[in-house]
Amino acid sequence: MSKRILITGGAGFLGSHLCERLLNEGNEVVCLDNYFTGFKKNVAHLMDNPRFEMMRHDVIDPFKVEVDQIYNLACPASPPHYQYNAIKTIKTSVMGAINCLGLAKRCNARVFQASTSEVYGDPAVHPQPESYWGNVNPIGIRSCYDEGKRAAETLFMDYHRQNGVDIRIVRIFNTYGPRMNPDDGRVVSNFICQALRGEDITIYGDGQQTRSFCYVDDLIEGFVRLMDQDEVTGPINIGNPGEFTMLELAEKVIAKVGNSTKLVFQDLPGDDPKQRQPDITLAKKHLDWQPTIGLDSGLDRTISYFKTVV
Ligand code: NAD
Ligand code: UDP
Repeated sequence: MSKRILITGGAGFLGSHLCERLLNEGNEVVCLDNYFTGFKKNVAHLMDNPRFEMMRHDVIDPFKVEVDQIYNLACPASPPHYQYNAIKTIKTSVMGAINCLGLAKRCNARVFQASTSEVYGDPAVHPQPESYWGNVNPIGIRSCYDEGKRAAETLFMDYHRQNGVDIRIVRIFNTYGPRMNPDDGRVVSNFICQALRGEDITIYGDGQQTRSFCYVDDLIEGFVRLMDQDEVTGPINIGNPGEFTMLELAEKVIAKVGNSTKLVFQDLPGDDPKQRQPDITLAKKHLDWQPTIGLDSGLDRTISYFKTVV
């Protein structure tokens, strides 16, 4: 049955893919965004759809709409952007969560929180299961994001236990794909844009740190499966367990783009996690979900997209 769905942060990278997916399923979508890191052009192709609506608004201020479901994605996700105004970042996570939860309580709506593998910090357990409490510095330069997201999870669980709000929490591991912002500063977009422009590839630290990269279509499938089942609330990891060093990623991108680009080594930012890999046992069991798009084919699709914008 068609639903009316609010997506905060809907004009961002992930949000725009989610808007598209939910509209394609016949739902009405209200997209709320302050355009801090998102863009109208990400959803421009949806504007003519009578079931799509755009609201310029900031999640730290309360909002009222009548909806059946809420996906809360509003928050800058790349380290340079979330560190640009750290106080605003933690306000966005905490006050945005409170406002979404208050709205969900009033409307009796199911509410989804886009949490992150950053709740595991620089993990001492590898791969990371949901039961791991994490290793997060509360006072570092990544803390505005990590602790904001951790506090948001706490709020979601407390609204659920105390007020019976119908919640879902997903912990997203590094996701990439078309409509990432070329100037966003994240590793996949940086490497691809640098290679396409024939610029040096910037490796932070020695490049031996690892990440697990999930293609956006797989992630969005996981979101919808979590939201549209009644068995589990999460937190649940959604990510691709394929784990790569940043050097391996750079080599793949250079080989695919085919430019004679060289690597330059720069300082590793503070608190940069050394390793990341999702344990997706719960997603497999409860959502029958696992990624279907490997890094090679995902990079090919992403490079094709960046060729049209860089
Ligand atoms: P993004 O920066 O492209 O999208 C975030 C969107 O939120 C943007 O459109 C931005 O303008 C909007 N926004 C930011 N602050 C806002 C505010 N105060 N009020 C209203 N809108 C605001 O990032 P993304 O990759 O699409 O990430 C979406 C969500 O998923 C974020 O919550 C992020 O923390 C989470 N996440 C993403 C990844 C990833 O790898 N992409 C990993 C973990 C978690
Ligand atoms: N990174 C890098 N070069 C870049 C951008 C990032 O080597 O141009 C590294 C960064 O230090 C981190 C990894 O790539 O170790 C992933 O960075 P990203 O910002 O994409 O995500 P996060 O650190 O939040 O997982």
